[in-house]
Amino acid sequence: MTDDRAVALEAIAAQVQTCTRCALHKSRTKAVPGAGSPYAEIMFIGEGPGYNEDKQGLPFVGRSGNYLTELIESIGLTRGDVFITNVVKCRPPENRDPLPDEMATCRPYLDEQQAIIDPLVIVTLGRFSMGRYFPGGKITAIHGRPKYEGGRAYIPLFHPAAVLRNPALEEPMAEDFRRILDVLAEVKRRRAGDVADEAPAEAMAEAPIEVPPPAAPPAKTAPPPPASPQRSLFETLPPEPAAPAAPPEPPPSPDDNKPTQLSLF
Ligand code: SF4
Repeated sequence: MTDDRAVALEAIAAQVQTCTRCALHKSRTKAVPGAGSPYAEIMFIGEGPGYNEDKQGLPFVGRSGNYLTELIESIGLTRGDVFITNVVKCRPPENRDPLPDEMATCRPYLDEQQAIIDPLVIVTLGRFSMGRYFPGGKITAIHGRPKYEGGRAYIPLFHPAAVLRNPALEEPMAEDFRRILDVLAEVKRRRAGDVADEAPAEAMAEAPIEVPPPAAPPAKTAPPPPASPQRSLFETLPPEPAAPAAPPEPPPSPDDNKPTQLSLF
């Protein structure tokens, strides 16, 4: 099974690396499919590759990537234990925000990665991946609060680059991260049948942490579905609507990598 998942993820990566389905392919150096364990229990989803990710073809390798690595290691895990990817696989020019049509066009890749890995916990990093699972959510109000749905938990977190631009967010971010393993344990308990999945989702939730605005703008269960490495995702997956646009947020610093180890898989 390990090989099956790895092969399926490699097939997606191969499609991403040669994809020309949206305009972002024109300005990329390397596409960034994602990286990590095919059996990850926790999947991190960021926004899109930044400067360093675009050069290396790997997710979260710049300054914000180093910070994300520190956070992951702070809860006793390594990057090899999780899977890290983004909502768009190619760097938007000048690190601009990804456009709704770009996210919609790229969505089948992320959908398939999620289906293959079947993570127990999905951690969104920043407003664009948050918008995929928490439409209309406001990050300052819901960060760190898990939603349990379909035998999985979703946790919205600040984007690491945003925290680096606003040190006041460091402690809330660290606190949210410390909650991830508790949420993972809760998902396992629910999957084991101790708690109905339909039970209120706020078992782990606390009152939102009020944070000041930025200082300046700046364990596995079901097997994966079969994937056909020889066929395009766009031939096998039905079209889905674009995620709703998220509320505006301060633009990233040019030096901050947008949201993105090992060989691809
Ligand atoms: S962002 Fe996604 S859809 Fe657009 S070219 Fe890159 S891989 Fe293809």
